[in-house]
Amino acid sequence: MLVSAKEMLNKARDGKYAVGQFNINNLEWTKAILQSAQENNSPVILGVSEGAGKYMCGYHTIVGMVNGMIRDMNITVPVALHLDHGSYDGALTCIEAGFSSVMFDGSHYPFDENVEKTKAVIAIADAKGISVEAEVGAIGGEEDGVIGSGEVADAQECAKIAALGVTMLAAGIGNIHGQYPENGAGLRFDVLAEIQKAAAGMPLVLHGGTGIPADMIKEAISLGVSKINVNTECQLAFAAATREYVLAGKDLKGKGFDPRKLLAPGVEAIKATVKEKMELFGSVGKA
Ligand SMILES: [Zn+2]
Repeated sequence: MLVSAKEMLNKARDGKYAVGQFNINNLEWTKAILQSAQENNSPVILGVSEGAGKYMCGYHTIVGMVNGMIRDMNITVPVALHLDHGSYDGALTCIEAGFSSVMFDGSHYPFDENVEKTKAVIAIADAKGISVEAEVGAIGGEEDGVIGSGEVADAQECAKIAALGVTMLAAGIGNIHGQYPENGAGLRFDVLAEIQKAAAGMPLVLHGGTGIPADMIKEAISLGVSKINVNTECQLAFAAATREYVLAGKDLKGKGFDPRKLLAPGVEAIKATVKEKMELFGSVGKA
């Protein structure tokens, strides 16, 4: 059964570890992440962007697939199905479709409008026990066409949004979506510490977790980051493994063209990446 992200994130905050949000793209992706979570006895958040939602036919298809997998695969670890960077309408649609968690990203609106819309989403989500992630300030990089430049959030704005009753808060601290650049300026831990104080202990979310050095991830967790989003890293691992299979000519040998064989190395690569992240985040054994 799907659960809200609230309890798993409050536990993570208190236990000084983070729960990974791994974005899904199809059945193989979802199966790999759920298998890895179960094998590592870790709570997990499955992230769905609006673009990925459309790609997978729509939110009802996703809810049906994930609920079916939890049952058929005997998944017993806590699983949250979460809309990533949702629009206002997208968040309401996902709540209706059966998601257990949504992000309403109003960071591109004027602040007062972000406050009003976030409040409205919380009112609807709360009635169904669904967790809500809000965002303050732009996070760098590109995700589904939304571009920022490693901006940092204002602590006072964070305090105001946190006070609305959100479950978790995403705030820019110089993080960047996609592969973290070699010459990245690094995370602003001074800003993170300020936000943690301003948000009065609310679980914080770090977006753009790919390629951020391990010591920075650990420091972020020690400063109240309880949820870390991973997307690009699984895509890179899947692509590299699939590429290797094809370049080795394995699709041309025997029944190597069978999708169950062709996609298998990619699935294993996602599983390994998820395990590695869960170990780094400290969520192994915390289900
Ligand atoms: Zn993000």
